[in-house]
Amino acid sequence: MEEFIVSARKYRPATFETVVGQLSITTTLKNSIKNNHLGQAYLFCGPRGVGKTTCARIFAKTINCMNLSSDIEACDVCESCRAFNENASYNIHELDAASNNSVEDIRSLIEQVRIPPQIGKYSIYIIDEVHMLSTSAFNAFLKTLEEPPKHAIYILATTEKHKILPTILSRCQIFDFNRIKVSDTVEHLKSVAIKENIDAEEAALNVIARKADGGMRDALSIFDQVVSFSGKKVTYQSTIDNLNVLDYDYYFMLTDAFLEENFVQSLVIFDKILQQGFDGHNFLIGLCSHFRDLLVSKNIETLRLLEVGAEIVEKYKQQATNASVEFLYAALDIGNKFDINYKASKNQRLHTELMLLQMCNIVKKKTSLEASSDTQTSGSVVVNASEKTSSVVKDVTNVAKSYGASGLSLDAISNPQKSVEKKTDDITNEEPIIKKNTESQKSAFTNDDLIIAWQECALDYEVSSPRYYSILTASKPKLSGENSIVFTLFSESQKSVFRQEIYQKILLKLKTKLKNDFISIEIIEGAHEQMERKPYTSKEKFEYLNAQNPLLARLKDEFDLGIE
Ligand SMILES: [Zn+2]
Repeated sequence: MEEFIVSARKYRPATFETVVGQLSITTTLKNSIKNNHLGQAYLFCGPRGVGKTTCARIFAKTINCMNLSSDIEACDVCESCRAFNENASYNIHELDAASNNSVEDIRSLIEQVRIPPQIGKYSIYIIDEVHMLSTSAFNAFLKTLEEPPKHAIYILATTEKHKILPTILSRCQIFDFNRIKVSDTVEHLKSVAIKENIDAEEAALNVIARKADGGMRDALSIFDQVVSFSGKKVTYQSTIDNLNVLDYDYYFMLTDAFLEENFVQSLVIFDKILQQGFDGHNFLIGLCSHFRDLLVSKNIETLRLLEVGAEIVEKYKQQATNASVEFLYAALDIGNKFDINYKASKNQRLHTELMLLQMCNIVKKKTSLEASSDTQTSGSVVVNASEKTSSVVKDVTNVAKSYGASGLSLDAISNPQKSVEKKTDDITNEEPIIKKNTESQKSAFTNDDLIIAWQECALDYEVSSPRYYSILTASKPKLSGENSIVFTLFSESQKSVFRQEIYQKILLKLKTKLKNDFISIEIIEGAHEQMERKPYTSKEKFEYLNAQNPLLARLKDEFDLGIE
């Protein structure tokens, strides 16, 4: 049977031309050979697997080639090139500093450096992972770097430039290797697939390239892995299955759910994701990247920052037109907050579900915010959306009340400024206008609104003050009457902490969140057996969430869903 050679080795570039994604570096190196402008020490920096060692070898081989082509590539046939290809070149010395990092290793290297090359002009010393050298080895090396023999060229490579001594940095020409762009990686994988006779979907190669995160070596090993799993036909589906990558579609569907304020849908999608064994935190991070991708899709200038396949770009553009920049900012902000607190959260599933809940609430919040700020500035109120109308009418009615007027016409609603002017005679002075801006707000809110706002307040303390968090989540607040909230606590100590330390803070937060300055909180004592536990089992979680959103039960019945 034919020996299997890993693609990263089999398709390792042997010429400058075939190096992927480092064009500016290879061009500079070629020019330095062409103009006979070789330095004595080079430092190649950059992430793993982006071609540092490969470029160092090609450079070394090309420098010593006796028969350079017109476009400055090694000929592959001269004595030096042949020796290099057979790994038998006496001119090229490689040292892996990760395993040879002692002073003795460097001393023996320095011994070698003295000997001039037998064939070719230069002896090239490639020191990989140079940041691994011990301090004394570094110092010993520095000496030879200060006065190298004319025939010696050093190429140092490192993933960690910041660990290299400044005295060394200052003696090297520094080349910073970039992560390889997804599109470049995809192109290279395509060419490898063709050579290997593998039918690979572009979307699949895209997933591989994204997973490799800019490293070609990683991309090729992942490619090998996928091929060994799915054979000669590599599809998008087989790739995401094999690599345990979450399908883009989930993020698209979730974002649609957020925009439609469909909490039930978002919860169902999240459940599906978990059922497939995906990690909640990775999902959360992926969701934030999705918002970021939508954000860059909004503008033609930033669209190039989107590193996805051509057919998915259209999907991003489409969804980006539906999602406002404000929505995306808010969603990213929420996502970021939940990301930071994720590890500290005791119930990570619930933690993520609350995040979804908040994301479903962005549009609603924004609409009500816009409506209230429109009237507060006393500018023109634009009544254009039917769902906005009711709150606008309510606000305008408030304006009317504060002016002591009643029964305003629709004309007054669409242009309060005009009505103010009309009514000026009735009003003794300008005071009401000032009064309006500082006037207390009194928006109506439902029990669901209250629970959401309360949870948001509690979450603010989840990490900073777990004690407050546990008190605030000891039970669910209940709306009693128009503005009074009843909150049950179960011990004297909880009650006293609440009264002395939490009450004022949370009251202020709730007033702002619910836009109602008339809120009051009454603490009642609950019997211990009624004490609510944090939802733990699936059934408890369902009941907990159902209490927040009764639609859940309907959904469960309609789709005949069970609880595991
Ligand atoms: Zn040659």
